[in-house]
Amino acid sequence: MSGTELQYVKEAFDSNWLSSVGPNLDAFEAAMSARLAGRHALAVSSGTAALHLILRYLGVGAGDRVAVSTLTFAGSVFPILYQGAIPVFLDSETESGNLDPALVEEYLAAAQRRGRLPRALIAVHLYGQHCDIDSIAQICRNYGVALVEDAAESLGATYRGRQTATTADFAALSFNGNKIITTTGGGMVIARDENAIATMKKWANQAREPAIEYRHSEVGYNYRMSNVLAGIGRGQLEVLDDRVAARRRVAMQYADALEGTGLRLQNEAAWGTHSRWLTVMYLDPAETRVKPLDLVQSLAAYDIEARPVWRPMHQQELFKDAESIGGAVADELFATGICLPSSSSLTDADLDRVISAVRETLARSPVEAPL
Ligand SMILES: *Cc1c(COP(=O)(O)O)cnc(C)c1O
Repeated sequence: MSGTELQYVKEAFDSNWLSSVGPNLDAFEAAMSARLAGRHALAVSSGTAALHLILRYLGVGAGDRVAVSTLTFAGSVFPILYQGAIPVFLDSETESGNLDPALVEEYLAAAQRRGRLPRALIAVHLYGQHCDIDSIAQICRNYGVALVEDAAESLGATYRGRQTATTADFAALSFNGNKIITTTGGGMVIARDENAIATMKKWANQAREPAIEYRHSEVGYNYRMSNVLAGIGRGQLEVLDDRVAARRRVAMQYADALEGTGLRLQNEAAWGTHSRWLTVMYLDPAETRVKPLDLVQSLAAYDIEARPVWRPMHQQELFKDAESIGGAVADELFATGICLPSSSSLTDADLDRVISAVRETLARSPVEAPL
């Protein structure tokens, strides 16, 4: 927390606006809208809820296909199942680890020939780095497929000078506790169309019709964010740029200090600015025999928490029978990638401790010298 959050929370307490309407919600949505090129914003209870509302708004229903990156967190995919639709997993490119535009083109061309175009495509911006969204948006337009940005991990990142979540007609943000800014838990729908936001707002509010007595003509959800949590979000949004700068600094410190160890920082693609929400590094099998899980376990013994890269969706038990287009690139990123401690609150001493522990672990297991 930055400190100002408590002031906004106190205002909510003092004014007794504690529930699903109030000044913090209005101000948080307005501030996000100002940040994101005037797009309309709806604060909700989670990023997953935001994606669910968007898919429903797009008319995704039972039996429809929705294409999505295989290399992502399950929160990108579960809303497809909530709508009774069928996920189709697409592989990554190596530049950013995100959706591969060439593969999207190939898949949509084949899907069109078979008369099985997906109803929508969810493009995820993983770990704070944008996918090549202009290329993907053009392909989606050519095939008439709705595009959704899963920007849960990319707030603060840019693409060709534009903010994340401003290219597609719809995007979802997350303010879960581990994200670059947090409301402890929460999310947001971002949309170009104000009427779409109004419809989703109604659904998120138990689909209450505008009548004094309780009238419902369709199914709704309790997906609202509280005015108390929106106060936290207001304060957090004020320091977003500081957080991005701090996280980028953390990533560069790791990259510099670990050069030559066989651990290499994830690329920053030429098309944008990486927020470095998480510092992702890749173990080069030519330089070390250490695998991501070895390193995670070794660091745990130093009381340092690290994580492997997301296990691709096509490798999940839940999706063992799902359609998957490619997957070898995501498999490779999963087999070699690790997320190091990345918090903006890490001190130089903290970073030194992590760096020493990583160095010691890698030094214990050198790869044999080549013949
Ligand atoms: C966190 C996350 C979500 C879900 O957001 P919640 O607020 O946790 O529901 C969706 N997609 C991605 C890529 C995420 O990282």
